[in-house]
Amino acid sequence: MSLIRVALDVPLTRLFDYRCDDRSATVGARVLVPFGRQKLIGIIVAKPAASEVPEAKLKRASAVLDTAPLLSSADLRLLEFAADYYVHPLGAVIMATVPAALRRVRRREEPPAAYTLTAAGTALDVSVLPPRARAQRDLLVLLQHRLVIEHAEIYARGTAARKALQAFIAHGWVQSAAPPQHDVLTPVPTPAASPPLTAEQTAAIGEITATLGSYQALLLWGITGSGKTEVYLHAIAAALARSTQVLLLVPEIALTPQLQALVIARFPGVRIAILHSGLAEGERAAHWQAARTGRARIILGTRLSVFTPLPAPGLIIVDEEHDMSFKQGEGFRYSARDLAVVRARYAGVPVVLGSATPALETYRNAVDGRYRLLTLPNRIHARPPVISCIDLRHEQTTDGLSARLLAAIGARIARNEQSMVFINRRGYAPVLMCGSCGWTSDCKRCSARLVLHLRDRRLRCHHCGHDSAVPAACPDCGDIDLAPIGQGTQRVEAALVRQFPQARILRIDRDTTRRKDAWQNMRSRIQDRTVDILVGTQILAKGHDFPHLNLVGVINADSMLYSNDLRAPERLYALLTQVAGRAGRGTDQGEVLIQTQFANHPLYAALRDQDFDAFARSLLAERRQAGFPPYVHQALLRAEARDVDTALQFLAQAARSARRLQPAVTVYDPVPANMMRKAGRERAHLLVQSPVRAELRAFLNAWRPHLEKAASTAARWSLDVDPAEF
Ligand code: ADP
Ligand code: ZN
Ligand code: ZN
Repeated sequence: MSLIRVALDVPLTRLFDYRCDDRSATVGARVLVPFGRQKLIGIIVAKPAASEVPEAKLKRASAVLDTAPLLSSADLRLLEFAADYYVHPLGAVIMATVPAALRRVRRREEPPAAYTLTAAGTALDVSVLPPRARAQRDLLVLLQHRLVIEHAEIYARGTAARKALQAFIAHGWVQSAAPPQHDVLTPVPTPAASPPLTAEQTAAIGEITATLGSYQALLLWGITGSGKTEVYLHAIAAALARSTQVLLLVPEIALTPQLQALVIARFPGVRIAILHSGLAEGERAAHWQAARTGRARIILGTRLSVFTPLPAPGLIIVDEEHDMSFKQGEGFRYSARDLAVVRARYAGVPVVLGSATPALETYRNAVDGRYRLLTLPNRIHARPPVISCIDLRHEQTTDGLSARLLAAIGARIARNEQSMVFINRRGYAPVLMCGSCGWTSDCKRCSARLVLHLRDRRLRCHHCGHDSAVPAACPDCGDIDLAPIGQGTQRVEAALVRQFPQARILRIDRDTTRRKDAWQNMRSRIQDRTVDILVGTQILAKGHDFPHLNLVGVINADSMLYSNDLRAPERLYALLTQVAGRAGRGTDQGEVLIQTQFANHPLYAALRDQDFDAFARSLLAERRQAGFPPYVHQALLRAEARDVDTALQFLAQAARSARRLQPAVTVYDPVPANMMRKAGRERAHLLVQSPVRAELRAFLNAWRPHLEKAASTAARWSLDVDPAEF
């Protein structure tokens, strides 16, 4: 009798053994198995010689679904590492990374892997298509040229290409086809033209390409506008020329059509897989398969794509490596940045971490010499912006806008230049308050205030989604003197309209960009200079080039200065650097004005001097002194329940079982979370830490079975290794 051990997507920590005499059952292949009254698809992770389950009780697997493994032993090794490091069940880890379409018993229709022209399509002359139908013309030429084109490649070309494909299908001009042969072993010819490189870029590219073929972590520390993307593109070209694949990880928000278009334009003919959470299940499966079989040579994706199976990895790049979206915040909580480094080490390939404001953990590794440090200290086109503070202790404000900021905006308008007013949304949004009794609009389910949305007159919770109408009178005292406090984007927009009645003002936030393509249209308006003042939040901070934008005003940065989250200063610095980077991308020098009550704070001083190195070193010294990460390793046991006492009780019991293990780690006492109520549940946590990583890991693995035994239905818990937020 042969046995297989199977990972299943069920809320149990174990793997499951089945009998299976099918010869095609190999480790890494999918298998259909009975589970209770249903059938599930799992992945074979081992073929054990014996099982702890008595033979008579072992069920028989129904069918092996793959003739060749879906996951290679290298892929499984990374997943096993992640399960162990993050103390999460291996089955859940594996199943979280395999596209849903491939683990569904009744599968959704997957799109065909590739397309080819029908006889009718082959006979077409491109001149039958109207000149305006650019995308259709391009697609026809491409299909006539290359004969077979993968679905994933057409998808990567954007919406217009996808629409053209649908039209061709409707006309009967294309049909599905088998994907073209695996081309992973062929070197890719030199890419399309790039601008002449700067000496600094050339040096950085040289260092990266010299490490191809062996493990090395490199930190590419380059100020905004220093041309990091160009360095990535050249490093990618070098890796492709060696017949390997490249994994390029980007933050959630950065996976823009611009970046896709840039990569496609630079590597014509190279298959690119795009992986992010916005894909339909079938699309995701198609891209994942293209990467897994080696047909896609460049994999461009967000956090989860760090696990994409790759037969021939050659280079891993993590852009904006400090970005918080690389950390998965629920369920299987992992850091894609950290796993990228592990993956590179296992695969024996270099990993490039790029940022203007690296995470302190990363910076420390570079300072200590574990990562090689590459720097791009200069902007390509213009000089860095001049950053200064407006001291609110000495300045009058109108609707939260200081006279100095208003004057600066007025001067830019007079010169036909653009300005941006940036509102830091973190911990800050307009709430409704009663002028007579002090009532504020609190969310009943969260420890957060409901945010006022003026346009549609709603109060919304940004944590749980609660949504209600704005009351006509105070619910407590009945007074009708209800007014917003704090500055939201809408309030600032209204104030700017009063100050500059002639100016064209554009507000950009979650409300105005909700509709598809809305952001795209706004970007074109900004580029076409039909906008004088932009008002917006975080979405404006990242990676956009607006050549006529020369002034950035920052409102309410202070709320993050005195947070009790130890990473708040680091994040504020990164955020402000990113925002400041929007100013002066063209030929004129940019100006950044930060309104603050604490103009002498060292963080603002470092920002004014644009001295990240000094700032990072002083934070690291503080962290070392205080015994904070990266000088200790932490894990949080998080618990949530209907009321915080239940959560705290569960944690107290967990703390007792931890101490009984006589651990070599420090076990703290349970405390309520910073944001205690969220979506009607109350949350608390328990911190454990150790200066020695191995001791923390050993302890967590010993502790987890006790937690599973202690778990009750009243409290839900999870372990968060290297927590990013408290
Ligand atoms: P970063 O990502 O470091 O903020 P980017 O990669 O966006 O910077 O580069 C800033 C701008 O400079 C972009 O418009 C880019 O196209 C341009 N650029 C990059 N390298 C060069 C170069 N060697 N010569 C001319 N322009 C360049
Ligand atoms: Zn009242
Ligand atoms: Zn809420």
